[in-house]
Amino acid sequence: MTIQWFPGHMTRAKRQIEDKLKLIDVVFELIDARVPLASRNPMIDEIVGAKPRLILLNKADLADAEMNAKWIDWFRSFGREILAIDANTGMGVKEISGRVKLLLREKIERQIAKGMKPRPARALIVGIPNVGKSTLINRLAGRSATITGDRPGVTKGQQWIRTGGDLELLDTPGILWPKFEDPEVGFKLAATGAIKEEVLHIDEVACSLLQWLAAEYRGTLEERYGLADLPAELPDIASAASVLEEIGRRRGCLAGGGHVDYEKAAGVLLRDLRSGKLGRISLEAPVI
Ligand code: GDP
Repeated sequence: MTIQWFPGHMTRAKRQIEDKLKLIDVVFELIDARVPLASRNPMIDEIVGAKPRLILLNKADLADAEMNAKWIDWFRSFGREILAIDANTGMGVKEISGRVKLLLREKIERQIAKGMKPRPARALIVGIPNVGKSTLINRLAGRSATITGDRPGVTKGQQWIRTGGDLELLDTPGILWPKFEDPEVGFKLAATGAIKEEVLHIDEVACSLLQWLAAEYRGTLEERYGLADLPAELPDIASAASVLEEIGRRRGCLAGGGHVDYEKAAGVLLRDLRSGKLGRISLEAPVI
């Protein structure tokens, strides 16, 4: 999905989420485990306010396991509730409902004290495009999903999905915008496929990616493309471009005259990253 974010659109998206917040008990903030900060909305704290929130580090299967653990510690150090999941296979998804019960414990206890039977918690999934919102909704809904119909106050056409556990989900997630004005964030979102690569030059995205990989995942890079003696650092775009050229040559990405087609080579690298063929790779490390 491509969305053109302009100020009016952002205001509308924010307002739509604020309307939905009135109907729910808990927000699931979905972020991409490979780029936990770049995939966060810059206004998320303001938008969600005091509503209980569970951060879901999705696509944890594609991210570096060690880095996932570091990010979980990092978010917890700010008092955030966080869980790593893979919405595609369902890893971690079963734990969500238990975490929600902990988050809403006081509210549930108050209901019980009043002699009420606690009702299922109502949740809204929010996140930037492509972070996995629909996949998670489908995963939580599973085969046992029953759509429970319109309720008062819910925008026409919106429905609650019963998830089998003690959870009800609004069937339309809240779509948020990323911090795309920051070029570093733009590169990370383009590399992971969150924004269309046409927005940026694919060969520049590949070169920035190679700089990160050479520093953090040198062995992986050397092994995957048969590169020997890769320098520990690619200090500038020119040095990264020469590595991209080498990858292109080895992968037969040639244009006329025996020259390497940089765009094709960049395509190979980015496909390998996104499909997990390069291994589990994180593109951001927490600063502690
Ligand atoms: P949405 O725009 O936020 O609704 O994102 P989608 O649910 O459409 O997911 C975008 C892409 O990410 C799809 O190709 C999904 O298959 C993929 N995806 C979603 N969650 C995961 C995950 O946990 N792991 C992996 N490997 N891929 C995922």
